[in-house]
Amino acid sequence: MTTSHWLRQHQFTTHDITTDILIVGGGYVGLSTAYWLTELNPDLKITILDRSFCGSGASGRNAGFLTMGSASFYKTLTLEWGLDKAKQVFNFASESLELVHQHILKSSPEIKFDRSSSMTLFKNEEIHTKWENKEFNPQDFNFKWKDKLDLPAPLQSRFFGGYEASPEYKINPIPLLTSIKKRLENRKVQIVEHSSVFELNPEGATTEINSIKAKKVILALNGYFPQFHKSFQGAIVPRRAQMLAIELDDDFDCPSLYYDPSERVYWRKTQDKVLVIGGKRLLDEQGEVGDFEKISPIIQQGLEEYVRHELGLKFRVINRWSGTMGFTEHELPFVGPIEAPLEAYMIGGFSGHGMGLGFRSAKEMAEVALGAKQESFYNQFKKPRFKI
Ligand SMILES: Cc1cc2nc3c(=O)[nH]c(=O)nc-3n(C[C@H](O)[C@H](O)[C@H](O)COP(=O)(O)OP(=O)(O)OC[C@H]3O[C@@H](n4cnc5c(N)ncnc54)[C@H](O)[C@@H]3O)c2cc1C
Repeated sequence: MTTSHWLRQHQFTTHDITTDILIVGGGYVGLSTAYWLTELNPDLKITILDRSFCGSGASGRNAGFLTMGSASFYKTLTLEWGLDKAKQVFNFASESLELVHQHILKSSPEIKFDRSSSMTLFKNEEIHTKWENKEFNPQDFNFKWKDKLDLPAPLQSRFFGGYEASPEYKINPIPLLTSIKKRLENRKVQIVEHSSVFELNPEGATTEINSIKAKKVILALNGYFPQFHKSFQGAIVPRRAQMLAIELDDDFDCPSLYYDPSERVYWRKTQDKVLVIGGKRLLDEQGEVGDFEKISPIIQQGLEEYVRHELGLKFRVINRWSGTMGFTEHELPFVGPIEAPLEAYMIGGFSGHGMGLGFRSAKEMAEVALGAKQESFYNQFKKPRFKI
């Protein structure tokens, strides 16, 4: 985005900035990275820049699952990387939830969250048998099998059973982001919204409204990396994801976060009679590539049909929206240094798992950027090799 002569005179007053570390991208991950940098070194001058407002990307548009991820995610990781590495990701994700609870949720009464569990559900025995794989044992990851009769009553007639993981959290992401932002402001982190970074230069960064001198830069752009620089294209693919919020005619007892891997949907209740549901992207896989947050009628209809036929519910639609995820081929993010005109790092490519993995990954990013750690946890999978 650029700013015209007229707009600049009218509304923008941001002066040139000098800072120790510039973070580009004010989503959950950019804000969390600033949080950990200030934990590690309170004397650093840190600036966050967002081209829109903090949380305007995927972080303010997601389903609000603070989760370690579904059993299907760990099955994919186990088959690709082996049990040991897949378990390391599981432990990393569990630690991430524990850290966000300890550092933010516990001391933020304004954030309404539920400690909960997630369930990877199977409609019938045949689907479950087909899903099972002798090289993957869900119990290695503490996923506990729940029979039909252990499910909440309304799900018993619709599902054969599922794998449960806990503890996890149901959360409205906006108060979470607001709370982290408030903490950062108290720690004198400078947050500049409505300002796009165009490119990095040896001194810092060029933006649409000012120049920023920084010693180091951390890019936290997730699905917008390829838009920022062509070297990320192909390695991080922006994929749209559709969400639907509905008000149910009658209440529906389903206290957890739910994944249905065969239908590729995920859903949860946010309050009595209100349910949010997302997924079904395979209905228009090609159409859902990109970082423009538009509505896909085909997918939205697929989500409605799922609620009507698979869950057997009557409802009225409250809201439809979409968001941009940044997918990598291995479905894990890149966290580490990149080649740039100045010392620079990246954190992104969360592949739909950023709310779960984000807080712990941001700690990793901060430690690497401050030299407290040589390499990030994710380097054992793939190292970032980007030159901008
Ligand atoms: C519909 C949907 C549902 C999801 N559900 C879940 C879920 O339930 N659980 C889960 O774990 N994950 C979920 N995810 C994924 C999760 O939301 C993301 O992984 C996470 O929010 C990524 O955070 P981020 O800060 O890296 O990226 P973002 O939140 O996308 O932040 C990137 C920021 O960069 C800014 N930016 C871009 N370009 C520039 C520029 N040039 N200059 C300055 N700023 C720039 C953007 O404005 C944006 O605010 C979901 C995602 C979507 C879209």
